[in-house]
Amino acid sequence: MKQILAIDAGGTKITCAVINENGEFLTEIEKFQTPKKIDELIKLFKDIITKYEKTIDMTAFATAGAVNTDNTKVDSSTPNMPDGYNKLDFSQLSAKPVFVENDANAAAWAEYKTGAAKGENNTIIITIGTGVGGGFIVDGKLLRGKSGRAGEVGSMKINSKGRVCTCGRKDCWESYASGSGLKQTAEFVAAVDDIFKTSIFSSKNPDEISTYDIIEGLNKNDAYSKKVFKIFKQDLITGLINITNIFDPESIIISGGLGKFFDTKELEQAVNSEIVVSPIKVKLAKAGNYSGMIGTALLACQKY
Ligand SMILES: [Zn+2]
Repeated sequence: MKQILAIDAGGTKITCAVINENGEFLTEIEKFQTPKKIDELIKLFKDIITKYEKTIDMTAFATAGAVNTDNTKVDSSTPNMPDGYNKLDFSQLSAKPVFVENDANAAAWAEYKTGAAKGENNTIIITIGTGVGGGFIVDGKLLRGKSGRAGEVGSMKINSKGRVCTCGRKDCWESYASGSGLKQTAEFVAAVDDIFKTSIFSSKNPDEISTYDIIEGLNKNDAYSKKVFKIFKQDLITGLINITNIFDPESIIISGGLGKFFDTKELEQAVNSEIVVSPIKVKLAKAGNYSGMIGTALLACQKY
């Protein structure tokens, strides 16, 4: 059975482990801080590979940023990685095959192969965190697009309110349905709705209300927090309906830090009541924190 050294290269930490072609971990997971300089980062990658190279068949990276169609390079800007990261040719790091895939795509593949969407050849993984990310499995294949950037669902436009997104454009789905979107909705409701005056957060400045406050408010039955979350949820559902109508998937898998605060049955009913394709399932992700490593290892196995 093939053994793959999987490396997850994130902006704050690098994690690695050896994984087999069933997605099972064969070694302990090692963690490193991401170096600030590109030559130090390349040295760390080489040191990790040298340590395992004798026993493995290939190396697979999951990384931030868009990956080229050869799965050898990151070809978008990656503000959280050291300068020069998008010049690195990953295939030069080892004498054995090296594969690299975008981390959200890799995590989607892990959900499809080993997680909540196992056996479902059409499934979409939506990650709700600081932003909104997506990975699309269409007819059993990872959707990559002409340049490897397909699935940028967070940039889908859903509204005409003119809300400015962190990317500089207006009315991106992620400016409503992400953690930063929730914060903006909280600020908006506080400014225009008297319900805020009776809220447990009424002494705060609207721009100081955090996503954490709103979650706390939900638990304390705060009417303002409930209203904010209801609008937030409706904006999420709008995007899920659009995606479902376009891709006709069997399921949508919700992951990311905010995912666990949604009632997936409620989302499922709301989506299914407004689609023209057959009903879908909405489920929480199951592949876990290391889904990027598992997914990229399994994708590499397919290629080599
Ligand atoms: Zn945007």
